[in-house]
Amino acid sequence: MPGEQEQCIFCLIKDKKSPSFAVYEDDFVISVLDRAPATKGHLIVIPKRHVSGIHELSEEEVSKLFIACQRIIFAQSQVLDCEGVNLVYSMGSGAGQRSPHMIVYLIPRYKDDQVSIVWNPAKLTDDDMKEVFNALSQVLKGAAMPVIAEKEPVVIEEKPKEEELIEKKPRVPDY
Ligand SMILES: [Zn+2]
Repeated sequence: MPGEQEQCIFCLIKDKKSPSFAVYEDDFVISVLDRAPATKGHLIVIPKRHVSGIHELSEEEVSKLFIACQRIIFAQSQVLDCEGVNLVYSMGSGAGQRSPHMIVYLIPRYKDDQVSIVWNPAKLTDDDMKEVFNALSQVLKGAAMPVIAEKEPVVIEEKPKEEELIEKKPRVPDY
């Protein structure tokens, strides 16, 4: 939708029609400081093409996006006194996507920061697990992907530790 793109803040940032602190740019992405950062050094990685989600990217574009993220995460790790970085991508409003333009957040994490990314484990029965395994693995077998699981699924008996659980609590950016 051309009208949507004209109004799109991320297209405006990409076209330099909206001021931003752009720390990285290549032929496919631009990365700017989030105006409402979760932490110091919180960046937004913006594909320059107006796409609503990862499903609209070619595999080459996904590669470019992740390579850019890798470079930026290295830089964040070098320059900022952070203890880690969360890469957050939300696809669909149900997952917290607020913008019609796909973006990825790279959020540096600091000791005792106030960022909350946790979830409680869902209680799924063995039948639930088998059902979703069968459905997903069947579809993925037909997909053009380099890795296809042919083995029996690995059953994880241990409950994950609480600090290992990650959930995106959608935060509403000021965009
Ligand atoms: Zn856009």
